[in-house]
Amino acid sequence: MNAAEQSRQHRRAELAGRLVAVRERLDAAARAADREPSDVALLVVTKYFPVTDAVLLYELGCRAFGESREQEAAAKIAQFRETVPGEVEWHMIGRLQRNKARAVARWAHTVHSVDSLRLASALAKGVAAAQDSGERSTPIRVLLQVSLDGDRERGGVVADELGSLADAVASAPELELGGLMGVPPLGWEPDAAFARLAGLHTSLLAEHPGATELSAGMSGDLEHAVRWGSTCVRVGTAVLGTRPIA
Ligand SMILES: *Cc1c(COP(=O)(O)O)cnc(C)c1O
Repeated sequence: MNAAEQSRQHRRAELAGRLVAVRERLDAAARAADREPSDVALLVVTKYFPVTDAVLLYELGCRAFGESREQEAAAKIAQFRETVPGEVEWHMIGRLQRNKARAVARWAHTVHSVDSLRLASALAKGVAAAQDSGERSTPIRVLLQVSLDGDRERGGVVADELGSLADAVASAPELELGGLMGVPPLGWEPDAAFARLAGLHTSLLAEHPGATELSAGMSGDLEHAVRWGSTCVRVGTAVLGTRPIA
């Protein structure tokens, strides 16, 4: 075995071990909350890590990956497709600027971070253009990122504006309203944050029963998120290790 192959095998074993550990945490959290482990999806966040890691994770059974920067994601996905013939979902989880909406519409299955009407309509236009050019055939799945403390600076739609944004997304043919995403604000107890998010999700479901996805929980707080109804945890560090500096 040459050195490159040896280091590939070493990384594969490392990722495999950490995936097992994360799945065990998820199973235990689901059982503790009286939920089915299969009701909580694991989205592995590959941002800042090389495409070789995504390929190894694919070999280990992962079929959905999260990215947070458009250019990095587009390059990684192009390389990934040269190596892996199978279909996987790429999710945009990071803050998205309107001028990147067109590019993201080319590759994203789901965007977790839609927080304004202007961004939603830029994304709808991007999807229409991508459909015209044959780059995609489906609508894009949209999760509305909510601000749990009402601070607009850090991203997320404030609770008062959530209903009208949800209605707008639901009525756009290029968009599919999937549900909500939330991140605990700095200094908040995770349970307090996820409880608030769960309450907002219940209200949303009353108007939009199809918006069942609740994207909540990361490496450090996934147990709390699963307790409060998360259907999708976004996990980077616990699977891939400490992120390289960008
Ligand atoms: C980077 C990122 C994650 C992953 O965080 P970890 O703590 O590494 O698991 C999850 N969600 C969002 C929105 C992120 O930007």
